[in-house]
Amino acid sequence: MKALRRFTVRAHLPERLSALGPLSTNLRWSWHPQTQDLFARIDPQLWSQVRQDPIRMLGEVSPARLDELAEDADFGAELDRLAADLDDYLQRPRWYQNQQAKGVDLASGIAYFSMEFGVSEVLPNYSGGLGILAGDHLKAASDLGVPLIGVGLLYRSGYFRQSLTADGWQAEHYPSLDPQGLPLRLLTESGSGAPVLLHVAMPGGRVLRARVWIAQVGRVPLLLLDSDIAENDPDLRGVTDRLYGGDQDHRIKQEILAGIGGVRAVRAYTRSEGLADPEVFHMNEGHAGFLGVERIRELITGAGLDFESALAAVRAATVFTTHTPVPAGIDRFPADLVRHYFGGAGGENASALLPGLTVDRIIELGRENDPSVFNMAHMGLRLGQRANGVSKLHGSVSREMFNGLWPGFDAAEVPIGSVTNGVHAPTWAAREWMDLARRAVGPELVEEARGWERLSEIAPAELWSTRNTLRAQLVAEVRRRVRASWLERGATDAELGWVSGVFDPEVLTVGFARRVPTYKRLTLMLRDPERLRAMLLDPERPVQLVVAGKSHPADDGGKALIQQVVRFADEHDVRHRIVFLPDYDMSMARFLYWGCDVWLNNPLRPLEACGTSGMKSALNGGLNLSIRDGWWDEMFDGENGWAIPTADGVSDEVRRDDLEANAMYDLLEQSVLPKFYDRGPGGVPVRWVEMVRHTLQSLGPKVLASRMVRDYTVDYYAPAARASRAVIADGYAGARQVAHYRERVDTAWPGVQVVQVDSAGLPDTPVIGAELSLRAYVRLGGLDVADVTVQAVLGRVGADEELVDLVTVPMTHAGSEDLGEVFVATTPVPLSGAVGYTIRVLPHHELLAGDAELALVAEPVG
Ligand SMILES: *Cc1c(COP(=O)(O)O)cnc(C)c1O
Repeated sequence: MKALRRFTVRAHLPERLSALGPLSTNLRWSWHPQTQDLFARIDPQLWSQVRQDPIRMLGEVSPARLDELAEDADFGAELDRLAADLDDYLQRPRWYQNQQAKGVDLASGIAYFSMEFGVSEVLPNYSGGLGILAGDHLKAASDLGVPLIGVGLLYRSGYFRQSLTADGWQAEHYPSLDPQGLPLRLLTESGSGAPVLLHVAMPGGRVLRARVWIAQVGRVPLLLLDSDIAENDPDLRGVTDRLYGGDQDHRIKQEILAGIGGVRAVRAYTRSEGLADPEVFHMNEGHAGFLGVERIRELITGAGLDFESALAAVRAATVFTTHTPVPAGIDRFPADLVRHYFGGAGGENASALLPGLTVDRIIELGRENDPSVFNMAHMGLRLGQRANGVSKLHGSVSREMFNGLWPGFDAAEVPIGSVTNGVHAPTWAAREWMDLARRAVGPELVEEARGWERLSEIAPAELWSTRNTLRAQLVAEVRRRVRASWLERGATDAELGWVSGVFDPEVLTVGFARRVPTYKRLTLMLRDPERLRAMLLDPERPVQLVVAGKSHPADDGGKALIQQVVRFADEHDVRHRIVFLPDYDMSMARFLYWGCDVWLNNPLRPLEACGTSGMKSALNGGLNLSIRDGWWDEMFDGENGWAIPTADGVSDEVRRDDLEANAMYDLLEQSVLPKFYDRGPGGVPVRWVEMVRHTLQSLGPKVLASRMVRDYTVDYYAPAARASRAVIADGYAGARQVAHYRERVDTAWPGVQVVQVDSAGLPDTPVIGAELSLRAYVRLGGLDVADVTVQAVLGRVGADEELVDLVTVPMTHAGSEDLGEVFVATTPVPLSGAVGYTIRVLPHHELLAGDAELALVAEPVG
């Protein structure tokens, strides 16, 4: 008989053990090995049965065992120590507080919105890279003391679990989660203690309700909205059923709940905790973009602002991060669908969902050239005064991709910066490294991620033996998973004797694990199957390959790629050297990053925005063998791994794949394998270990999530907080000023003209450095001189008279004449060769983040 419903009942802890409560519900245990050890001590066998899940552990352990532990002085002492350690972690001033104590002006609070969060496998609320990144962001924020609140949805069945059919096809399962069995508590009203119930208006006068779960990630609360409650109509209960399941209609409801409901959840949380409202809102990808329109509504109905002033206030305080370099990867909705959900207040154009706003103005925020489309990334850029991509290369690709929103500007001037992603070391570095680090460097490495590079001071033999230990652990895990997968595929134990010979702890181990969209090219390694087979089976210097990854359930192309790998790995002669492990998730990923010697990544450049798996491998002394895409483009230094040469210009995809696959095989055969198998005294591969050392030293400090969160804090959150204060002060005077200014500039701009430019000072044959004097006459169309910046732009003249290698020189106002306002500049000619210049006028206002912000520019006509 099957259960109709299930729920989880937590055990009653003996008084002496009550500290196990907070130690199990605060997810800090997931990156604190000593706390994990304490749970293991309760019942080692059960601990592995419940897959290292403290809440399940406490639910399933026998009361007798708990009573026994309550009497165990040794256990009690360790429990007290760890409980005190957690308290200290939660309360002691950390980097952020220390900065503030030094007088550094930082944001008083940040709300960080994401559609997925991968904090730990016990809370499977993520599908892949984006979610894990968000999880690492929260953890690093916690370690640094950044006052951040995470906001997202709680999915009833998270992302799917993957298994294989007998013939190697991906099968999907959606186990449903029971919030009571997860490390969550309900957000309640401070006075009554009743659960907070959020309301979001739906078309036809209906209401979508949601409760709010709180996951505690160290110092950082993560608010997760859940629509699966009896108060909702049956179809609305399903809004938070699955991550990335369902159609456009389903998805827009999820995004409305995450964005609009999310802001309401933040307000309920700060009210309940007696905290100030966050100064800064960070959209991790465009999915949560509706948070901006909700904040505009708050300002219209609460502070009495008009739409444009409210927009100015919201923009100042908003940071938008884009994660995809492919236009097809961007979230877009039919404009009519947006109209359906936001309209319907009776008045032609009034929004029922957001009273005080008009639907046309909302749709305008996500406008594309094609007015029938609503683009969430465009909305992110229009709602966020600060925006960034997630690696240097991706920043530059994004500036090109969104150049259309800044017509008249060079891509290089598009105001989108970059913060390169990072990974949370205590989560992803093996315990063996953390212990070594604590000994060799000191606790600050583990606590504050400082001094990572000093791991390189460890003796070569010790570095190598750590690598060997981790590889051996991976081999055991591979065998366990291969067996489980074959049992699921219908094999019997009797047929699986060979599995104990799968993989060899002495053999060079290459890992390739990632989602399976086409651009990641899962099957590139199979381009020349015989060449791969020869490498796998080489008697002297073999390689073994572990592959994993999920395909989107609707993507049969991706599933066919998986099947191709599985079929190859099933062949009897190679099955001990190549495996496909189903159900790639955090619990598997960890073993792969720890144990693989080489981390392989071969995306089609530049389609990988950043990539983080290679960073996690590097933190464990894994060497990257990767196309120079995403993070690797900026961090490869010639010694810390290998760059697979790209055939960037080759448009024939088949030929490009051939070229790049061959380059990868060549590198493996000629450089990777010889270095690994070339052994010195004591069997240590000296040149290999040198590369491991250099990887830890050069990449260690750069790939950390703490570096990433510091970058966001200093370069984005703090400026956004200052900008926000400036527009809020004096009853939003600044916001009104900006709105008024924008309106004036928009109206006047067609009349802004550079009418004449005169130059003087250059001799007949100028040399570099010669003084050039420029004088421009500009009509301002009714604007004041203070409303604009006038610039001379010099550069090399390229094809089609386009200026490249630009140098910008500000011009100063030198009076008014009949022809117009006079602006002058004198500058040494900065370049040689064919040099040219032009003059341009940009709007300028001190409350804007830059002169390109309004995407307006006037140049000489003709
Ligand atoms: C790190 C990680 C990813 C993202 O890796 P990419 O390099 O961005 O592909 C995906 N899934 C899991 C489980 C991870 O740990």
